Amino acid sequence: MTTVTMNRDETAPRRDLAQFRADFPILRTRVNGQPLTYLDNAATTQKPDAVVDAEADFYRTANANVHRGVHALSQRATDAHEAARHKVRSFINAHADAEIIFVRGATDAINLVAQGFAEPRLAAGDEIVVSALEHHSNIVPWQMACRRAGAVLRVVPVDDAGEFDLDAYAALLNGRTRLVAVTHLSNALGTITPVRRIIDLAHARGVPVLLDGAQAISHLPVDVRALDCDFYAFSAHKLYGPTGIGVLYGKTEHLQAMTPCHGGGDMIRSVSFDATEYNELPYRLEAGTPHIAGVVGLGAALDYVSAIGLEHIAAHERELLHHATQRLADIPGLRIVGRAAEKASILSFTLDGIHPHDIGTLLDDSGIAIRAGHHCAMPLMQRLGITGTARASFALYNTHEDVDRLAAGIRRVWETLG
Ligand code: PLP
Repeated sequence: MTTVTMNRDETAPRRDLAQFRADFPILRTRVNGQPLTYLDNAATTQKPDAVVDAEADFYRTANANVHRGVHALSQRATDAHEAARHKVRSFINAHADAEIIFVRGATDAINLVAQGFAEPRLAAGDEIVVSALEHHSNIVPWQMACRRAGAVLRVVPVDDAGEFDLDAYAALLNGRTRLVAVTHLSNALGTITPVRRIIDLAHARGVPVLLDGAQAISHLPVDVRALDCDFYAFSAHKLYGPTGIGVLYGKTEHLQAMTPCHGGGDMIRSVSFDATEYNELPYRLEAGTPHIAGVVGLGAALDYVSAIGLEHIAAHERELLHHATQRLADIPGLRIVGRAAEKASILSFTLDGIHPHDIGTLLDDSGIAIRAGHHCAMPLMQRLGITGTARASFALYNTHEDVDRLAAGIRRVWETLG
């Protein structure tokens, strides 16, 4: 087992990779009689015991509805829920807890901004800018809003390496641009986009920017105030947390100006048939009973990741990406897709004449889990002239041995089908 020490707290006992792996019980699973090599982390990450236990403990010891009850258990549940909001605030360095809106995930967050912020401000002929790198979740909600308003979706091109074209972006911005929505990190290619320049150029024209942080949140330290982004969207499940819960960060003035899309309990201060008054932030954008246990699990995931330090995780993953890029380089027929200069630990590739699904299926026979297909980025695949790729994506618990097993598995695929 590779010895990699990842510790933020220098006074804490140092832990090596084997100890981190032991925190993730699913990594001991066998698949098709083989030890699991889990390399589908861009789809979802595995969960450490700390997250599983936090959710289970919540149900065992604190379960009640939040924000409503006068009884002790409800107060305990509310405290746990709001403590997690505070952890999110600090994790992304937002200005206030009220800027953290709990949603179902990145998709839900982007839809909320598209419907509640963008659409009411769009007139016929206005423009929204996305890039060719986007996940469908950061395309379709804007298409829907534009279609309803008669607005136009403009697309920033990417080059053959999968780089965001900053010059083309600058040229696209104009007096009709109402919002820019781009990914911070491409799920399909691993490209890290030049978000500082993207935001500066948009702000110079008074245009707000939403960053889709679904991937970046687990690979890069994110500071929303340093970035000065207007909205930031992510899902807990790609950050070692539970499914079904995510975050929309928004600057207070934007969230205040948003039209609530969902009405119901919790988001109101008073209701009558004559006039209903909405609640204050963040509750006015969180109608109904929230996913309380999921929020608690997210808080535990943030504690887990923070104890290691995202910068240490990123350094470990960079090292894995480097090793994988080298190991795959001389495999016959293999082409790495996406060679951006700034890239995170996502490795997309094709094998000449072999369908990505066949690669994925044969690797699965060896217990190796990767993703194959268009990665919910069909326009990007069209731009690159392919129907899909095979994609290996790394997380904090992956090892050099995982990479070596992947390389050996791909060689077997080539020998079998190539
Ligand atoms: N954006 C990107 C870049 C993603 O990778 C994903 C998921 O793969 C999403 C958005 C959507 O996330 P979710 O399905 O958790 O809402």
